[in-house]
Formats: sequence, structure tokens, C-alpha cells
Amino acid sequence: MNLLPGMEELLPQVSSWRREIHAHPELGFQEVRTSALVRRELEAMGLELITDFCEAKTAVIGLLRTGREGPVVALRADMDALPMQDEKDVPYRSQNPGVCHACGHDAHTAALLGVARWCSDHREELHGTLKFVFQPAEEGPAPGGAKLIVESGILDDVDYMVGAHQASAAGPGYIMTKSGVAAASGDFFDIHLSGKGTHGASPDCGNDLIVTASQIVEALQTIVSRRLDPLQPAVVSVCSLHAGEPGAKNVLPAKAILSGTVRTFDEGVRDKVFELMEQMVQNICALNGCTGTLDRQPMFPSLANDPRVTALVIDAAADVVGRDHMILIDQPSTGSEDFAWYSQRIPSCFYMFGAAPSSGPVYGGHHPKFDLDENALPVTMSVMARAAMVLLDQAPRKKSDR
Ligand SMILES: [Zn+2]
Ligand SMILES: [Zn+2]
Repeated sequence: MNLLPGMEELLPQVSSWRREIHAHPELGFQEVRTSALVRRELEAMGLELITDFCEAKTAVIGLLRTGREGPVVALRADMDALPMQDEKDVPYRSQNPGVCHACGHDAHTAALLGVARWCSDHREELHGTLKFVFQPAEEGPAPGGAKLIVESGILDDVDYMVGAHQASAAGPGYIMTKSGVAAASGDFFDIHLSGKGTHGASPDCGNDLIVTASQIVEALQTIVSRRLDPLQPAVVSVCSLHAGEPGAKNVLPAKAILSGTVRTFDEGVRDKVFELMEQMVQNICALNGCTGTLDRQPMFPSLANDPRVTALVIDAAADVVGRDHMILIDQPSTGSEDFAWYSQRIPSCFYMFGAAPSSGPVYGGHHPKFDLDENALPVTMSVMARAAMVLLDQAPRKKSDR
């Protein structure tokens, strides 16, 4: 392991930021406390702050101008947590009921603050400009934070960009990435059912939306298994189903809502899935005498890593962790990541860093007991800072390429 000098020493500070954020998780676009912490720390490092530049009010960019010529390189962290209960028994567990940093965005934010601190301390050795992008709402709600940041134009001058995500597939010291298409497109959906509520003893006097919703859940499972080209991967998941009052035993409800997500690697497949979903919802509702609407919320396109930038980041990462700890993934992930919006506009690389705890059971992202090994943080901080330095050594992109 070849951490950048001084990175390991930043771990106590980075860990304390991470635990502070972890204990006070906030949902997408509501990262007020987290955003204030980020602003306070960036300011203390002597970085310029860019705030209030788009609809995503909690977004913060720290700007480090070295005053020397060179490209503009952006590094990104996401700040939002998930709507779920933290079930860990640790001193820094979530103090906000029903909200939990179960995807590691607390660690991403703290690590990027650490990189900002390191770069600020080493600014005399750098040239060009660095933009540290702290983004809200990676997990939604639609349209997510990255799209709003990109559309604001605040990154129009950026030549190259890098983002990272923790991974529980490996322990600290491993870096994983893939050139080209690396992650799926993502859409969310809600299916609203409405009908005539009735007494549980007289289902014939109204509509049974619970049976209707169950038929829809079953039918949606046949899209991937029976209706799509078997060689075209896709995922259709219904992740919540709400109907009736908890504990109600004799009331059939007048409303039901199903929510979930769709992942694909091809825009044609993506549209076909929604066309089939619409047909299924309408036909099953017609069969049951109720009405249904499918509300599609497109989140992000598939994520494509730029081959040249990715090759440079792979070399930078290998300098830190060694070639034998650099894992080149050959299949894209069905996970989606709104970093895709940046990668559509800016030659970028998104990589994963191993962060699985070395002892005890390993719970993956979005599990209520998810946690990570903070020893992974100086590793990703070193990789990100080294990647930034390598990219700052490249020529800025030509205007015609933008
Ligand atoms: Zn997540
Ligand atoms: Zn995540």
C-alpha cells in the first residue's frame, strides 16, 4: 500500500466527520445539516464556496484555484441517506428515526472533505483548478441531484471528472472499475390504483385493490422472464406495496400504491419495459373494474466511463494499491448511479473502493445493518488525490470537444 504522505494522518478527522454525518442522516434534497458541515469545513480550509447555483439548494462546490495554468478537474461525493431504519448497534448510529446512511454516502462526503483538505495543504504542488462537488439526492427523489447540477452549467468548464463509491465486495485496499458502460440506467415508478372501497365481508360491492395489486406484481415479473430478448438484461423490482390501514381486518381500501425501480443497459429495452408495464397495469385494472396509472420517473441514463480517463485513473489507483489490488470488472453493474449525468457531458471515471469490514458479518449497501471499514477511507482519498494530480497534468479539453 502506497498511501499519499499525510493521508493516513487525516483519518481521525475524516472518521469524525463521517460519524457526525452518519449519526444525522438526511434524505435527498434535505441535506441541510450535512451541507452546512461541508461548507464550514471547506471554508476553514480556505477554499472558495459555490452555493445556491441550482434548484438543489443543498449542493455545495468547493473551488481550489491554484493560480497556475492547467485543466479544471472535478471530484464528486454524494451526501444523501436512505429512508430506512438504522439497525446497527454502534455509537454513531442514526439519531433520525427512519433515515439511515446505509449506502456509505456519509463516507463519500467525509473522504472528499479529506481530499479537499489534502489538496489545500498541497496547493503549492498543484496547478489548474479543482472543483469538489458535494451533491444532494443521489438516491432520489427524481430528478436527483446530479442532473440539476449538470443542467445548471456550473460544471461547463470542467475538463475531467472522478467519482467513487464504497463496495462491500472487497475489503479496504482494493479498487474496482470498468472502462465503457459500467452501470445500468435507472427509472423509478409508482403505480396508483383506485377503486371503490368496501366492507371486507362484501367484496362484490366494491373493488379489491389488494388482489389487483398482487396480480400486477406477479405480471411485472413476466416482463424480464417472458417478454424481453433473453440476451438483453433488465431488472424490474416492486419495492413497496401499500394498501389499507395497518391492522385493518374488515375494510377493503379504495387506494393502493406500488413503487419500484427498473434497470437496463439499452435505451430500447428501457422504453419497451415501460410500454409493457403500462399495458399490464391497464389490462389488469380493467379486469378488476378499477383504475390504475403508471407514473414513470426517469432517473439516470447508463453510466459510461471514458476509456482514456479511466486508463489514467487505473494507473493512479495502481500506484496506490498495487496492480494486484486493482480489479478490472468485465461486466457492468445493474446498480445505477446518477454520476451518469456527469459522465454524459464530461470525460469521467467512476470507481469503487473496497470497504467491507474485516471482522463480523458483511452487510451490503441498503441493508439496515450496513457498515464499512473506515480504513478504506485513506485508500480512496489517496486514489482520488493521485487521480486528480494525474488529470491536472493533462491538457485541457479543446473547446470543440465540449
Ligand atoms: Zn444506494
Ligand atoms: Zn450509493
